[in-house]
Amino acid sequence: MSPQSAIQHEDALHHLHPFTNSGRLNKKGARVITRAEGVYIWDEGGQKIIDGMAGLWCVNLGYGRTELADVANEQMRVLPYYNTFFQTTHGPAAALAKAIAEVTPGDLNHIFFANSGSEAIDTIMRLARHYWAIKGKPYRNILIARENAYHGSTLAGASLGGMGGMHKQGAPLVPGIERIRQPYWYGEGGDMSEDEFGLACARALEEKILQVGPDNVAAFIGEPIQGAGGVIVPPETYWPEIQRICRKYDILLVADEVICGFGRTGNWFGSQTYGIEPDMISMAKGLSSGYLPIAAVAVGDRVANALIDHDEDFNHGFTYSGHPVAAAVALKTIEIMQQENIVERVRDVIAPYFQQKLAELADHPLVGHIDKKGLVAGMALMMDKATKTPFPADIDIGMICRDHCFENGLIMRATGSRMILSPPLVITEAELDELFLKARHCLDLTLKTVQ
Ligand code: PLP
Repeated sequence: MSPQSAIQHEDALHHLHPFTNSGRLNKKGARVITRAEGVYIWDEGGQKIIDGMAGLWCVNLGYGRTELADVANEQMRVLPYYNTFFQTTHGPAAALAKAIAEVTPGDLNHIFFANSGSEAIDTIMRLARHYWAIKGKPYRNILIARENAYHGSTLAGASLGGMGGMHKQGAPLVPGIERIRQPYWYGEGGDMSEDEFGLACARALEEKILQVGPDNVAAFIGEPIQGAGGVIVPPETYWPEIQRICRKYDILLVADEVICGFGRTGNWFGSQTYGIEPDMISMAKGLSSGYLPIAAVAVGDRVANALIDHDEDFNHGFTYSGHPVAAAVALKTIEIMQQENIVERVRDVIAPYFQQKLAELADHPLVGHIDKKGLVAGMALMMDKATKTPFPADIDIGMICRDHCFENGLIMRATGSRMILSPPLVITEAELDELFLKARHCLDLTLKTVQ
């Protein structure tokens, strides 16, 4: 295949794609998506594709929500832009801050706006360090994160994340970051039970804190469930122990909820699913169901009050922090979620069905193990599941499977040899039946390709 259509030609000539080998892509041409409705997208060739990834884990309410388009249109006519710098605000930003504070857990009562998850993470890094400086401990500036974490693509986000491929490019990284192991039981748990392994991984945090000195650590940050790392669902013992350790050493606990936030795990936030009481959380994606770029950091009273009581400005912000149109769309998104009981439906109806369908898929010869929670799952594809033997490096099993999915009307993402599902939260049982029928068919085709 080579670039065929006018869009593909233009794209190949001028568009550099994120996380893509553009040279290779340009030879065949990018897949052109032209429209979307509900849980389906259509490509230029007219193929209807079921979106098992909700875009990039974000289109939680599905495509084609005219209420969101109407709100954006209205807001653009009234006040398309004004900033929230220099002691100004506007209705959408204030109302959205209140709405977020109401749905977040604990005392996360204060909201700082950004445009992307990465910017939210940068904000958290600066805020955590600034907090300790205000407290008279500027040396408390180390952030502890995890191997195989994903916290975005800005320099700070890439540095904080644990992706080797990202660290290799654009170095040197931001200093003052330490890393501990990830709680990936199927891949790294060895002979330990899941519970034992969860505790061992959490205690790696304590070891790291003692190694660098508790009084040098600002914060620990983790995704409640690692998303881009392959959907790594932690053992149940993991987060309570992390919580205990952070409290013991008075270290700020940060949950990166960019994927888990807004219903994905069957609660408004992953922190509620795991009983985490974070000092700050980052959110993006589902905040506007992906309809417009907007992100936020929800800040607990402890950190926010330090900032509020401090007699200096917080020298940080973005031109579009709290953009009125994006804020209006996010506000409407939350309203729809509440009116349609989206979170309750995920928890009580659609996630249990999703889990049942995943359990049925587990007998497939390629599927070694499935990590799952709420409406998100990661499947480890193995060459021999009985002996837990992975495919050799020269067989890119994830890409083979992903391509079969593409060709057969299903979006399933590959992270290495793991296949990921994270469909729109509004998906129906019948649509899940179709999705899983296609998933099994594509796994069969993948198996045939490598046999
Ligand atoms: N944090 C997490 C957990 C994410 O999954 C992502 C994106 O996938 C980000 C941060 C970065 O978000 P963005 O791509 O909006 O900058």
